[in-house]
Amino acid sequence: MALRKLIAGNWKMNGTRASLAEVAAIEAAATAAGHVDVALCPPFTLIDAMMQAADTVVIGGQDCHHAVKGAHTGCVSAAMLADLGASHVIVGHSERRTDNGETDDLVRAKAEATIAAGLIAIVCVGETEAERDAGRAGVVVGDQLDGSLPPAATARQLVVAYEPVWAIGTGRTPSCDDVAEMHGMIRAKLLAILGEEGVGVRILYGGSVKPDNAAELLAIADVDGALVGGCSLTAAQFVPIIEAAA
Ligand code: PGA
Repeated sequence: MALRKLIAGNWKMNGTRASLAEVAAIEAAATAAGHVDVALCPPFTLIDAMMQAADTVVIGGQDCHHAVKGAHTGCVSAAMLADLGASHVIVGHSERRTDNGETDDLVRAKAEATIAAGLIAIVCVGETEAERDAGRAGVVVGDQLDGSLPPAATARQLVVAYEPVWAIGTGRTPSCDDVAEMHGMIRAKLLAILGEEGVGVRILYGGSVKPDNAAELLAIADVDGALVGGCSLTAAQFVPIIEAAA
């Protein structure tokens, strides 16, 4: 089944108010593209201002705490993101799994908190280079899905992003065959975990998506969009990726 594509930009720890100048051209491209959903996930500091600058483009957070509120210095809850008008939260990005020691259990709790706040959880999974070289990519990603996905989620509440760790920010991508194999496996897993709802969950590919490889990656079966890091920071690079999905 061909699902409406989602192109999501993850600005990571990049961007100041001056960077909001990029949003107008991204907004125009998203409006012109029509059949594509476009999301931008800036740092928390820019969410409110980006909400004001965007309309067709929806805004998300890059993380949330699993609690609604409380004594958690420095943290932001999904409910707070919802209060700003955000619509998505990225949870379980490999940089958070590595830098912050986030486990599958914690990622699932964050995804559940996101959904409870009325937002869409973008749950990230992906193997390291050593795991792929050892022939364990499928097992690793399968285990991450078993541990990280909220089993009661519906297709509207959940997006999965497959991001091989070794492809993030490196300029390297898996072959189209490898992407197709992994996305097919993820679809089967979604059906096993979520039942019929798994049919409609969008599976994004992420890791060195660029203007010159976006069309090829987005044409692969069960690639329902892209999670874009570096190339989402400027309209010059993000707009052609949006256009490749249209
Ligand atoms: P990249 O990052 O596009 O810069 O490789 C992708 C991501 O980490 O979401």
